[in-house]
Amino acid sequence: MVGILVGMLFVGRVDIPESLIQISKKYEVQVDVIAEPYSWRGRGYTVETSAPTSADLAKYAKIFASEWNRYPVSVIRAAKVKRIVIATGISLNKQVRAAVPSFDSNTMYYDTTLGSYNEAYQRLVVHHEFFHMMDQVQGLVRKDPEWAALNPPDFHYGNGGDKMRNLGAGVLTDKLPGVLTPYAMSAIEEDKAELYGHLLVDREYVAGRVKADAVIAAKVGLLKARMQKWDAEFSDEFWNSMAWGT
Ligand SMILES: [Zn+2]
Repeated sequence: MVGILVGMLFVGRVDIPESLIQISKKYEVQVDVIAEPYSWRGRGYTVETSAPTSADLAKYAKIFASEWNRYPVSVIRAAKVKRIVIATGISLNKQVRAAVPSFDSNTMYYDTTLGSYNEAYQRLVVHHEFFHMMDQVQGLVRKDPEWAALNPPDFHYGNGGDKMRNLGAGVLTDKLPGVLTPYAMSAIEEDKAELYGHLLVDREYVAGRVKADAVIAAKVGLLKARMQKWDAEFSDEFWNSMAWGT
């Protein structure tokens, strides 16, 4: 089902890009494009959204679809994603977000416009945020001793991703041993999501870090083994796929 969301009614005022209609059919998920301000209250949090312009929607749909279509149908099902909301001006508890994985409503919210000057960033966000959903389903979001044990004994994560929203937190750097970005140091779940996302959009870069950093190598090994155990579709073929230019 594909809808334009106005309150709880679906109307035909916005042209939904064909690529989103195809995603809805292929994955059997509801895809909603926000047509007027919409908010949703989850357990202990509120997501607020606004309507994207049709130009932003068209541009984003191409990027989003090319990345989302890399996933086999079984993976989206296993992650229990039932609905994708495409919007702009997304906030979580009034804090601006490029995307929100809403665990208790099986919904992924994605912003068409935030960071749209940087296509690589928007591609990364598709996977980073979807990873949180998969991590949640596996029961590993905050408590993950197996992952934590890969860090050196004196390594400590920060106080959570919501406490590190500064510009530059997501920039790849080799100055921080064992992680890819400053943001990855904010929390264990962000470390995993950053590594996962960059494996899918910056494969060459991550391969270089794996060669030079034994902790990153161990994390990539655990991540890939764990994902494949969870769903057999996380094969070499999946990791080697690329969406850029398609
Ligand atoms: Zn995250």
